[in-house]
Amino acid sequence: MGNPLGDVKMDRLQAVTTIIKRTVSHIFTKPATTKYPFVKPSLSENFRGQPQYNISYCNVISLGNPNFGFDVHSIVGSACRVCARDCPAGAITIVEVDGKRRPQFDFNKCIFCNQCVESCPRKAVVNSDVFELAVIDKKTLIRKPKPNSRGENNNDT
Ligand code: SF4
Ligand code: SF4
Repeated sequence: MGNPLGDVKMDRLQAVTTIIKRTVSHIFTKPATTKYPFVKPSLSENFRGQPQYNISYCNVISLGNPNFGFDVHSIVGSACRVCARDCPAGAITIVEVDGKRRPQFDFNKCIFCNQCVESCPRKAVVNSDVFELAVIDKKTLIRKPKPNSRGENNNDT
């Protein structure tokens, strides 16, 4: 008959040895984590971030030269609304800005599927690598369609 107390001692010794081995091995192993947010992570080429809307392209038919672009709304009295129609999350609503109908993005609802990027016939919505959307006030994630200080994307963070 074996000594049960001796077996318990052996088990403990093995457990402690295993722990020590693992601890020492990790001293020489590269960390699996990164120093985010101090170091930006490297993102995949196909990463889908926050869609960026460029009001200056929205509903504008360009004839190859920006000086010959004209607004569809001024001709047919309506916006194309394709982005809002195709958004599976209902994150885009069409609102009126300066007499023109424009998409308003709600990034509380957006699931970053990029369907609006695919659907927009004017390339007015493009993909970006923006993924940091943590805010204190969720209302700020509803981006009104108006030009920013550069006169283009309305939904920069
Ligand atoms: S990325 Fe997808 S969910 Fe987000 S606004 Fe575009 S279509 Fe809607
Ligand atoms: S699909 Fe493109 S052009 Fe049409 S309303 Fe949306 S952003 Fe504007």
